[in-house]
Amino acid sequence: MSIPENLAAILARIAAARKAAIAPAPQTRLIAVTKTVEETGIREAISCGQRLFGENRVQEAARKFPRLKAEFPDLELHLIGPLQTNKVKEAAALFDAIQTLDRARLANALASERDKSGKCPRLFVQVNTGEEPQKAGVLPADTEALIAYARKLELPLIGLMCIPPALDDAAPHFAFLAKLAKENGLSELSMGMSGDFEMAIRFGATFVRVGSAIFGARSGVR
Ligand SMILES: *Cc1c(COP(=O)(O)O)cnc(C)c1O
Repeated sequence: MSIPENLAAILARIAAARKAAIAPAPQTRLIAVTKTVEETGIREAISCGQRLFGENRVQEAARKFPRLKAEFPDLELHLIGPLQTNKVKEAAALFDAIQTLDRARLANALASERDKSGKCPRLFVQVNTGEEPQKAGVLPADTEALIAYARKLELPLIGLMCIPPALDDAAPHFAFLAKLAKENGLSELSMGMSGDFEMAIRFGATFVRVGSAIFGARSGVR
């Protein structure tokens, strides 16, 4: 299958999942995840009308996207991988949203970059719902404090994001994230990947992040 065919199939599955859901979000947007995908592949998706993309590394995104963003001003780019504080300046200039706010130190760095450059992408707090030691994200028990801290800094926090443990049933993780967002007055929910985006839609996902089902399997661990 080609990228255009895959993309059309995913969009159709998103629409069908929304139709079947009892209480879908007002809208569900597809983030086409282009990590390891080169510019020709990204351009194929753009030529089909896709404008929202996700990358998990600042350096890789900085290599691929500035030119594309100049050419397609309505292109929107989200950072979906961990962010180091020394890359905040570059990330704030490149990304429209950062989905991986997970600690106070990073909130501080984003606020100080906003104060310096006036630039601040919209933010999601990443929650480590599976409490996996090796995984990024704030622990569930610390999430409300981080949300409060980001709000105190007047950061543009709009939602929550999670990546459930690979071997778990994702449903309870999605349900938990949706509940946490609701309790904290956050409207955006980024959850669901190639293998489970339809289930995420059932639990109210407003963004699904799909890579391999559009662009093909990646070699290596990413
Ligand atoms: C790679 C990645 C995705 C997409 O994964 P697929 O299984 O290829 O759809 C989604 N979210 C994050 C955070 C990722 O790193």
